[in-house]
Amino acid sequence: MKIHGLQKMTLLDFPGRVACTVFFGGCDMRCPFCHNAELLDGSAPAVMEEEELITFLKKRQGLLDGVAFTGGEPLLQKDLPELTKRVRDLGYPVKLDTNGTHPERLGRMIREGLVQYVAMDIKNSPERYAETAGLEKLDMQPIRESASMLLGGNVDYEFRTTTVAELHDDSSFEQIGRWIRGAKRYYLQRFTDRDTVPFEGLHAPTEEQMKHWADILRPEIPAVELRGVD
Ligand code: SF4
Repeated sequence: MKIHGLQKMTLLDFPGRVACTVFFGGCDMRCPFCHNAELLDGSAPAVMEEEELITFLKKRQGLLDGVAFTGGEPLLQKDLPELTKRVRDLGYPVKLDTNGTHPERLGRMIREGLVQYVAMDIKNSPERYAETAGLEKLDMQPIRESASMLLGGNVDYEFRTTTVAELHDDSSFEQIGRWIRGAKRYYLQRFTDRDTVPFEGLHAPTEEQMKHWADILRPEIPAVELRGVD
C-alpha cells in the first residue's frame, strides 16, 4: 500500500494524543479550498511503502500514542482495514479523516473496532454541497448515511467545516444545525489561503462572521467551537 505523506509528529491532528499523520492519495471530491490538492488524483509519487510505515511505527512505540489517517480520502484505499489492523496490533489508536462518501467502508472500520476517532467533513448545507465539494453534482445520500452513523453510534467523532467567505452564509449553518442537531463536537475551521489551493480568489471569513455562525448553530449544537481564530 502506498503512503503519500508522513508527518512524523503532531499535537494537533488527534485530540489529546501525540500522533503521526499518514497521507493517502486520491479523493472523490475537488474542494476548491483543498490544502492537499497534489494528492487528489492519486498520481503523486508515494513517499513510502506500507512496510516502511510499520517499521517507523515500531521505532516510535512509546513516543507516539496515536496514528491519524488523512488524505485525500483514506477510505478509497481498499487495503485500509488490513493496514489499520497492523497499526492497531502495534498498540496505536487510529483516527480517520473522511469526507463521508463511503458509509459502508466507514461502517466496517467502526464495526471491526479499527478506528477510535473519526473526523468527518460537513462541507456545507445540502443545497450548496456539490459546489463546495467542487463537483457538478453529488449524491447526498452516502454523506447523510455517514453522518447518521456517527451521530447514532458509539465511536468518538467530530464534524468539521472549513468555512470560506465565498461558499458559506447564514443559511448554510441554519441548515447544517438542523441536519447534525446534537452533534458531540462540531468545529468551524477558518480557511487559510496557500499557493497550492486549487482555486484562486477565496477568502477566509472574519472572526466576527465565524462567531455569528457559531451563534446560529448553538441552539442545535451546543458543542460548536471555532478553530483557526484567536
Ligand atoms: S474532501 Fe478533503 S482531500 Fe478531498 S478535495 Fe475536499 S478538502 Fe481535499
